[in-house]
Amino acid sequence: MKALKVIAVLFLLAASAPSRTASAQETRVRWFGHAAFSVTTPGGKVLLIDPWLKNPSNPEAGEGKDALASVPKVDYILLTHGHRDHVGDAVEIARKTGAVLVSNPELAANLVKLADFPAKQAQTDAVMGIGGEIQIAGGEVTVMMTPAVHSSSVFNPKAGPGEADRAYGGNPAGFVLVVRNGPTIYHSGDTAYFKDMETIGEEYQVDLALLNIGGHFGMGPRMAARAAKAVRARLAVPQHYATFPGIAENPNEFAAELKTLKIPFREPRPGETLSFRGRQLLAR
Ligand SMILES: [Zn+2]
Repeated sequence: MKALKVIAVLFLLAASAPSRTASAQETRVRWFGHAAFSVTTPGGKVLLIDPWLKNPSNPEAGEGKDALASVPKVDYILLTHGHRDHVGDAVEIARKTGAVLVSNPELAANLVKLADFPAKQAQTDAVMGIGGEIQIAGGEVTVMMTPAVHSSSVFNPKAGPGEADRAYGGNPAGFVLVVRNGPTIYHSGDTAYFKDMETIGEEYQVDLALLNIGGHFGMGPRMAARAAKAVRARLAVPQHYATFPGIAENPNEFAAELKTLKIPFREPRPGETLSFRGRQLLAR
């Protein structure tokens, strides 16, 4: 009987070992609402894109809650452009976590000068420009900065009376992230549709496209679906909607368009995580 128990325990240990290894090889993409996502690599590095974590869609934000508590470890903060709904809580998170900034040089410099972003974390090789390709996370992630048709300015809390409260934020951008042993992810930033998005689809195998669908300030649902097609997304996920007045309230029209284009679609709830093993989305 005792021997049987030992065998059973050994069997359980053997059975659980591979699944532990497998989960360590997963890439986890979590949506916080609006344009804010975290990407946790198989190696355990955490990238935050456009971290407005205190946005009203985030279930972990709001009265009496600490929205930043859900990201105790952040290695990199990637900013598509300087608008407040994208810079969000970047300065506070950078101070708390020591995360390094990935953005264009003008935005990096002005965040340091005007918003007290920690200088050392904004003056590294991770400052880059559109068309550039860099490696971060010890080479585990390759980051390409892609064009975006939008604007970019950075809020200047130090502006005096008679001074503009928006400073130059460099060119707006999107990102392609190639995760080693993980998916290739495209975050479109706050762009309009542009036909050269097709180049992204030609150059990269986009497993996951995180597309702004809100309209008004950028592409709306119909053109966002066209963007999914242009970048040849294996899976399209909507972002930048239902957060403030004037932008799309839900992704229904986007979903309907994707259906006609036969592009797979997921609509995560804010706070939800999509997990990938290799390039493959894991079922919930
Ligand atoms: Zn925006």
